[in-house]
This record gives sequence, structure tokens and C-alpha cells, in this order.
Amino acid sequence: MGSYTCHYCDHPTESIHQVTFYQEQEEQNELLCDSCYEEWLMSLRE
Ligand SMILES: [Zn+2]
Repeated sequence: MGSYTCHYCDHPTESIHQVTFYQEQEEQNELLCDSCYEEWLMSLRE
């Protein structure tokens, strides 16, 4: 059983990464699982 829930895919995960989204000049912290975090990193490089 995971201790956290991924913000993106909504699955429970024990390995979590905190990322910061910027929306209209406001910072918003979200928690992502491993695979979603990787995708998020990839999207930053494009
Ligand atoms: Zn996820």
C-alpha cells in the first residue's frame, strides 16, 4: 500500500517526487510517481 497518491495518474505510490507547477504566477506543489515524474522531466526539455 502506497503512502502517497500520484497527482497525475491517481495511483498509490511509495516513491514520490514533488514538482512545482507555475500557474498564473502562482506556485503549486504536486506529488508525482516515478513514471509521471519522468514524463514531466521530459516535457520540460522540449
Ligand atoms: Zn503517476
